Amino acid sequence: MAKYVFVTGGVVSSLGKGITSASLGTLLKRRGFKVSIMKLDPYINVDAGTMSPFQHGEVFVTWDGAETDLDLGHYERFIDENISGANSCTTGKIYSSVILREREGGYNGETVQVIPHITNEIQDRILKVGKNKDVVIAEIGGTVGDIEGLPYLEAIRQFSRRIGRENILYCHVTLVPYIAASGELKTKPTQHSVNELRRIGIQPDLIVCRSQYHVNADLREKIGLFCTVSPDCVFEAKDSNSIYQVPFDLKEQGFDTTVLKELGLPISSEPDMEDWKEFSRRFNTLEKELTIALVGKYTEIKDAYLSVNEALSHAGIANGVKIKVLPVAAEDLETKDPATLLANVDAIVVPGGFGLRGVEGMVLTAQYARENDIPYFGICLGMQVAVIEFARNVLGLDEANSLEMVEETEHAVICLMGEHKNIANLGESSRLGEYPCNLVTGSKSSAIYDEKMINERHRHRFEFNNEYIDMFEKSGMKIAGVCPTGGQVEIIENTNNAWMIGVQFHPEFLSRPVRPHPLFRDFIAAAIAKKNNAEDNKESKR
Ligand code: GLN
Repeated sequence: MAKYVFVTGGVVSSLGKGITSASLGTLLKRRGFKVSIMKLDPYINVDAGTMSPFQHGEVFVTWDGAETDLDLGHYERFIDENISGANSCTTGKIYSSVILREREGGYNGETVQVIPHITNEIQDRILKVGKNKDVVIAEIGGTVGDIEGLPYLEAIRQFSRRIGRENILYCHVTLVPYIAASGELKTKPTQHSVNELRRIGIQPDLIVCRSQYHVNADLREKIGLFCTVSPDCVFEAKDSNSIYQVPFDLKEQGFDTTVLKELGLPISSEPDMEDWKEFSRRFNTLEKELTIALVGKYTEIKDAYLSVNEALSHAGIANGVKIKVLPVAAEDLETKDPATLLANVDAIVVPGGFGLRGVEGMVLTAQYARENDIPYFGICLGMQVAVIEFARNVLGLDEANSLEMVEETEHAVICLMGEHKNIANLGESSRLGEYPCNLVTGSKSSAIYDEKMINERHRHRFEFNNEYIDMFEKSGMKIAGVCPTGGQVEIIENTNNAWMIGVQFHPEFLSRPVRPHPLFRDFIAAAIAKKNNAEDNKESKR
């Protein structure tokens, strides 16, 4: 049976509970344990698919097509394993299944209540994730004290009766703020939030203190005393220059060995972190910088393109360059000159997005990249706008006006996928999750991947209209990848340009720190080559 570490958060949100959970997962997995991580989110949406990136940041898509919280992306990148939709649990999901069972008469006339029916449903889902695992790390979204988080806290409290207290650890991540006026770190908010947890009946075993500065032994002693925790079980999570440093910081304090000891699990070897160490070393020694424009719709939100940013940084490290991402609001390109907005960028990424806002600005971006031969990487919507641009400006197509939602034409080059045409509900009408893609022999992509067939994750409703394949190919926009099951065009390559590739899928979800995604890696390599070339030319003109 799996053992469980429940991670709660206190004082404020955005403390890095997800990174703490993911870091622990990394350390335990690299000690050879079978680890899984899950997120329990107290919002009422059934999944994150219907949430605006403005409110909730990126929607992360799992291999089995679940639209989840961005923390699942951290989990996958850190434990380097594909996790499934079952690892993301929301209040919406819990209530939907309880209400469905009630309607089907599954409760035999009982009054259906939060306790025990909702709390049991939560526990059942937590138990399921533990199948064939040694340790499950379960993060509770939100902050202790939130009304909507209560059923989850109650469920994890009861869970100790279900599997035995000795098989559970409660880890509370809290803020230890620095008060500039007195020049001190303060423990009072931590004391209060632990009290709040205790009021619900949960005594934390471990406390992780997020702080701007070093939380010294005296402070840890004090927190231990007030919170009834051994000072050895109080850890510091000081602000770090990279999230990938956090596992090392925690390990240095013996966080993982304490967890194992407390759970009664063997501590045999050290975690094998060699490749991560090398990755971190490279990260800290990068000198050259590359500027990549990210032309999207939600550029003012830091987390809206989290996985794209991460994938770019992984690829940068693999190529020995620091990536500076320049967010550019797509709408701005509609009113300002692209040559001004995109001056001095080494390459351009147009990421995914939904709705029409900003699409025209993205089309202009694709045109600018094509005409100036700037490396261009279009992801999902970014591929679609490159197709539209090519259709309009190279092929001179009228219908290229061109997303079907703009003009009701059957012949739009980017059209709604056949089987999805009549489905109104956004969630149900999307093509979600992993699908295979055959790579065309001789294409750039097949060389980059060095594979014949790949699997990538999707989240879209529109697709390339296959009636245009010949016309595009004749003018140099090659189809480099096609889904063998549905026939969808998955990859386009503009062979007139040095590096202009669009993909219908989301490669960013598969990039890992020590295993950067091949397309991102090659895209960055192309940007470096272009930059070096330009510098050489400048030199020779002097
Ligand atoms: N809105 C486009 C579609 O539905 C693109 C989706 C995306 O970029 N994820 O196909």
